Amino acid sequence: MICYLCKSAIPDGQPFYNDHGAQVCKPCFKDAPRCWVCRFPGKELRMVDGLGLECEFCRGRVIDDSTPLEPLVEPILPYLAGFGIVPPPGLAYRRIDRLELRERQTRADLPPEEFLDDFLRFCYPLFHDSGQVYLLRRIPRPLFIVHAIVQLAAATFAQAYGLPHLADRTPFHSYARGWCHWLGYEAAQRLNYDRERRQLRRWPELGAQGEFERWEKMARFQPPPKMIAFFQANLQALARKHLTPGAAEPPASAGR
Ligand SMILES: [Zn+2]
Ligand SMILES: [Zn+2]
Repeated sequence: MICYLCKSAIPDGQPFYNDHGAQVCKPCFKDAPRCWVCRFPGKELRMVDGLGLECEFCRGRVIDDSTPLEPLVEPILPYLAGFGIVPPPGLAYRRIDRLELRERQTRADLPPEEFLDDFLRFCYPLFHDSGQVYLLRRIPRPLFIVHAIVQLAAATFAQAYGLPHLADRTPFHSYARGWCHWLGYEAAQRLNYDRERRQLRRWPELGAQGEFERWEKMARFQPPPKMIAFFQANLQALARKHLTPGAAEPPASAGR
């Protein structure tokens, strides 16, 4: 096996880095600067302002600033419809840098993230707020797709309950967020997006932790209509308890 960077043979038994069908030896991997998207120590890393270094492999597979998003969103609508979710029309997408996106979601004093993985531990790469979907510039398509599912679902429930977004801390918000998160996870599983599935699995604290596992088990035995009914009943009960009166009753058509 030949190292992609230094071209020397990687000795048998030595650990190496493997991604994008290329292998990098341990000495190279230890010191090389790495791609912010995928952590690969690329050969032609380029700095992207507001984000970080990008490798030659990711450069070709991220959504660049001029890629139209509608054709990517269109095919996920039938999946959402299968779970009774019809997103509000006219959502606007805005591409922003990572610091701004992070600040829109949390004011917590977090360590600066080095890689996209780190960012995903604390924040979503897409975030719906008041009819706008803010998204991190230049993310891989699969990541966009699963998180578009999460946020279109979030936009639907926010609208149904008269809320700007689902980012607040009440049990209602957390439960609704957990369901949206689970819908993205389930989609990643069905689409064989293994990296994204693992990312969504590893950080369910963004959603509702216990519930998330429950839904995962339910999905194995229950058809979507049963799960939707279960979720809706719980969500409505939580809304009555935790949302201010007037915001607690969704219109009859919402989220069904
Ligand atoms: Zn090497
Ligand atoms: Zn990369």
